[in-house]
Amino acid sequence: MKTIDLRSDTVTLPTPAMRDAIYNADFGDDVYGEDPSTNRLEKMAAEMVGKEDAILVPSGTMGNLISLLVHCRRGDEIILGDQAHIFYYEVGGMSALGGIVPHTVTNQRDGTMRLEDIEAAISGDNIHYPRTRLICLENSHNRCNGMPITAEYTDSVRELANRYGLGIHLDGARIFNAAVALGVPVTDLTRCVDSVSLCLSKGLSAPVGSIVCSSCEFIAEARRVRKILGGGMRQAGIIAAAGIVALEEMTKHLADDHANARRLAGGIAGISGLKVDLENVRTNIVFFYLENNGLTEDNFMTRLEERGVKLLHLGSFQFRMVTHHEITAQDINLVLEILKDVVG
Ligand SMILES: *Cc1c(COP(=O)(O)O)cnc(C)c1O
Repeated sequence: MKTIDLRSDTVTLPTPAMRDAIYNADFGDDVYGEDPSTNRLEKMAAEMVGKEDAILVPSGTMGNLISLLVHCRRGDEIILGDQAHIFYYEVGGMSALGGIVPHTVTNQRDGTMRLEDIEAAISGDNIHYPRTRLICLENSHNRCNGMPITAEYTDSVRELANRYGLGIHLDGARIFNAAVALGVPVTDLTRCVDSVSLCLSKGLSAPVGSIVCSSCEFIAEARRVRKILGGGMRQAGIIAAAGIVALEEMTKHLADDHANARRLAGGIAGISGLKVDLENVRTNIVFFYLENNGLTEDNFMTRLEERGVKLLHLGSFQFRMVTHHEITAQDINLVLEILKDVVG
């Protein structure tokens, strides 16, 4: 029986081209700045998102944490969405390690925060308040259906941030998905943020790695913080070689993942007992609901697993499937048949 793993776009294995690239890569000690593959990857990533410099880090979580630690001092406050990955899934690292105070603002269903809500969250100049330092955005927005956030919206947040002298960090774990979905160059989505983190190991199929891009000055400081966190790596070219293939080759396949997600959502919409918000399926993430039809959530999961279909259960009758490079249109058809059997 074939396993169709739709839990996340992180489950992809390194592609044959990545394995070749790793085998043939040139190596050096990256803590001394001497790993040619890492240097090449960092330069390439910085150019792609229109920033001066970049740094390779082991994970998206570390990339976001390093960025926040560079932007903020202890006791500073950041404004971010209440559904933000940084708030939800990064172990409270900003507070645990940085003494940073998160001030959450409601995320709208499209992943944005209302500008007036952001503005209301900014602390005034008053000795009682923590100092607001930074606004964090996320694009595409993981917990908001993988929605892509437009350049116009990001620009409007920049305008607001400028009025208050705040920085902007973008959690762009899936920034290439967002750019493809919106049909714009990725630089349109990154031009007005101060720092951006992106993942090589999500839709781009690399085995490990994320990158933070920003100014030369910011990245120089990020190198110190990465070292503090134990993220200085030696022959990091092992990771970077695959990362180069991810950026050069794998960004071209994201439109297929989005088409498969739409196909999946369209099929789910036609299955009675399941509910999906079709309009909000814009990238590779599909959220859907099991309607109350006598089937328990655990039974639903078990019966899908028995047929080889893996997915995430988010609680409250909500489930998530994510398409990626190893999922074909035929796989989607098969999943839809299995879903029909299980729910029907
Ligand atoms: C996965 C993800 C991260 C963190 O990446 P890890 O490599 O798993 O630490 C950060 N932000 C978003 C939006 C993500 O989806």
